[in-house]
Amino acid sequence: MSAETEFDVVIAGCGLVGASMALALRHRLRHNDLRIAVADRQAFDPQQTVYAQFPDQFDARVSALTLSSQQLLSELDVWNAATAMRVSPYQDMLVWDGEGTGSIQFSASEVAQSQLGTIAENSVVLTALTNQLNAERDIVKLMPFTIESVQRADHQQVLLTAADGQQCRTKLLIGADGANSRVRELMNFTTREWDYQHTAIVTTVRTELPHGHTAYQRFMATGPLAFLPLCQTESDEQKFCSIVWSCVPERAEELMTLSDEEFRLQLGRAFEHKLGMIEWCDKRMQLPLRQRHATEYYRDSVVLIGDAAHTIHPLAGQGVNLGLLDVEVLAEELSNGVKAGRQINDPILLSRYQRKRRGHNLGMMWLMEGFKHLFAQQAPPIQWLRNAGLSAVDNMAVIKNQLARRAIGLD
Ligand SMILES: Cc1cc2nc3c(=O)[nH]c(=O)nc-3n(C[C@H](O)[C@H](O)[C@H](O)COP(=O)(O)OP(=O)(O)OC[C@H]3O[C@@H](n4cnc5c(N)ncnc54)[C@H](O)[C@@H]3O)c2cc1C
Repeated sequence: MSAETEFDVVIAGCGLVGASMALALRHRLRHNDLRIAVADRQAFDPQQTVYAQFPDQFDARVSALTLSSQQLLSELDVWNAATAMRVSPYQDMLVWDGEGTGSIQFSASEVAQSQLGTIAENSVVLTALTNQLNAERDIVKLMPFTIESVQRADHQQVLLTAADGQQCRTKLLIGADGANSRVRELMNFTTREWDYQHTAIVTTVRTELPHGHTAYQRFMATGPLAFLPLCQTESDEQKFCSIVWSCVPERAEELMTLSDEEFRLQLGRAFEHKLGMIEWCDKRMQLPLRQRHATEYYRDSVVLIGDAAHTIHPLAGQGVNLGLLDVEVLAEELSNGVKAGRQINDPILLSRYQRKRRGHNLGMMWLMEGFKHLFAQQAPPIQWLRNAGLSAVDNMAVIKNQLARRAIGLD
């Protein structure tokens, strides 16, 4: 095999998490001659995004990025480029119980910040990441490279084979190939998974009233509905929101078949017309939601990060944020280890990463599961407790402050 197909690290998957991982390793080991490659079944093309082609429209896939995610992307010289395109910081968040009277409001000023987070179109962040990756000439891009087999080779290496027969070897393989990770499957990682019995409908809407840079979440027995504020680049009227409506699959099917007009009416009612009428909606997209968690994050010389290791309900907007925390910790452990003279695939380094991240990710997943069940309960005593609890927390400055700091990634 030639030098072009022998690597120290191959990152499988160049989504938000995999691309960040490649840059984070390069940044931390800038003066080391580590050979890094990133492989994806398709090259992302910034020219094909909604932002590049139809600048007055929005991509349906967006993420609420916490302050800690923004910080990591800044360190990777990516965040400024994303903000120069189009992102939407928000200062307030209103969460309420659609079946009762409880509500809680968070404000950036209460945690002494200028924002609680930023809504960013995934394709905008991916454009900034791709441009930065392209500027890093010594990161090899293997694209298209659809991983078809992963085998242990000689000298503690892993042999990767693509669907078209291309091959490469690496000392460490990082699986960042998303929720249906082929790397996870081929390496027989055990996962715990269960169907949420929820499908998410996502689209962009224009509302009658301005969103005021507030993110809204209404909890209903059938699932949560989120309105995430979007900003236009010119003359921003604050009237566009990205919505994520999670509901049982039968209801989702029903919502998908409605005419635009009927969908807008039903959406407005489900949102209690907090922003007036829904004046317009874009094409709807439905995404089935499953929760998955790998019971181990590494095996031999293969380690999982991002959605490949854990997929979580989008109700708290934490998926990418958890993946970026994985990136931070794994990059830190690997670079410290290499600088101390260890091999990049040393199990000690991988176990440190697993120890630091697995419990935290699992805790967040249980919390989301708890929320889903709590709000699905319609028994009056539970409804009463829920409403009383939400309103009580809203009045307890210290607890509310801790909740807000945790949600925005400050603690
Ligand atoms: C409706 C919805 C709303 C969400 N909202 C939020 C939010 O507000 N905030 C938040 O933090 N998270 C949110 N999430 C979660 C977030 O979208 C995911 O956590 C995130 O996209 C995962 O990134 P990733 O890079 O790990 O995986 P992906 O984005 O899935 O990237 C995987 C990459 O691997 C490549 N790949 C796959 N298979 C192969 C193969 N065999 N060979 C080679 N390459 C391969 C793919 O082409 C892709 O580029 C939401 C999710 C949903 C469904």
